[in-house]
Amino acid sequence: MNALGTYLIKLIKAQGPITIATFMAEALGNAKYGYYMKQDPFGGKGDFTTAPEISQMFGEMVGLWHAVNWLNMGSPDKIHLIEIGPGRATLMQDVLRAMKVIPGLLDAIEVHLVEMSPKLREIQAEKLKNYAQLTWHNRISDALGSAKGEPILIIANEFFDALPVRQFQKQETGWHERLICLDDQEKLSLQLAPVASPEQVIPVALHRADIGSIAEVCTIGENICSEIAEHIQQYCGAALIIDYGHDAHGTGDTLQAVKNHKYVDILSDPGDVDLTCHVDFQRLKEIALKCETRTYGPINQGKFLKSLGIEARSQTLLANANDQQQKDILSALHRLTDNSEMGALFKVLGLTDKSLAGVTGFEQ
Ligand code: SAH
Repeated sequence: MNALGTYLIKLIKAQGPITIATFMAEALGNAKYGYYMKQDPFGGKGDFTTAPEISQMFGEMVGLWHAVNWLNMGSPDKIHLIEIGPGRATLMQDVLRAMKVIPGLLDAIEVHLVEMSPKLREIQAEKLKNYAQLTWHNRISDALGSAKGEPILIIANEFFDALPVRQFQKQETGWHERLICLDDQEKLSLQLAPVASPEQVIPVALHRADIGSIAEVCTIGENICSEIAEHIQQYCGAALIIDYGHDAHGTGDTLQAVKNHKYVDILSDPGDVDLTCHVDFQRLKEIALKCETRTYGPINQGKFLKSLGIEARSQTLLANANDQQQKDILSALHRLTDNSEMGALFKVLGLTDKSLAGVTGFEQ
């Protein structure tokens, strides 16, 4: 067992079984051994590839979406562009480059990066060194605090899927939480809590689910969404949440572990494999609506990018490209938009304040 596994075994011996959420939080964010804390997990040689790492066109479309919002807000003198979970900062770099073409926008922007990983912060600082106004935060609440009273533009791509979830399985006796405990050989293993949890932790839409169904609850994600929505509702702004997930409540175990672009056992090598869960977009939308923000989507990533003009953008890039580059551009366009690739699995949810008009990208 690796170092984090040994630590978790000690923890369980001392305190008893832990929830899946505690396991995820440790596996991804443990200060010493957490997956994101010690390495750069992206790219062809890494464990997984994200949309901005596939092509600059993705970030350009996101930048364009927010640029239009800024113009429709009446081009405020100051606005905070906040990215949550910026990874290698490729997305932010492409967003800022796309925004350059809008006169006055970059002068109005202060960039905030919400990032827990010291390793990734170093990479981000290097990538964005040409931009003066950069601040890092550990939590979204700190970033929103420094934007107090002022409008915000938020980007979260593949961030919500990395947040810890709790899982519950329906039994005759109610919803029992899935816990991680130790088996006879003192190895990490999954087990159901002997006592059912109160039904109110489960979304109402799932209460009548069949016996054996699994419900996932991401309280941290819900809280982050409501903090963002409250700020937007109070001080204006727009947010774009992009991730893989389902657009309606559903049951099922979506927790997955990936190493070197392959699925592996979730309990193997904690801290050395990426762990994610599908995002429940309907839940995020309900929370935003409760905060009285306007919501757009969720719609498929392919539709969103096409509606913003990714095909026209690819034509412009193709016109100046050599043979190999042309192949790469077409393959990237396919990966980002086609339903057999990221186009349908990935969803886009937009949030804006009620007074913002002319929001693009979500035409059905
Ligand atoms: N948006 C990037 C990276 C996605 S990976 C892209 O599209 O390429 C997830 C990112 O979120 C990483 O930067 C990771 O370090 C960060 N992250 C994950 N959980 C976090 C948390 N709880 N707080 C802050 N950052 C977190």
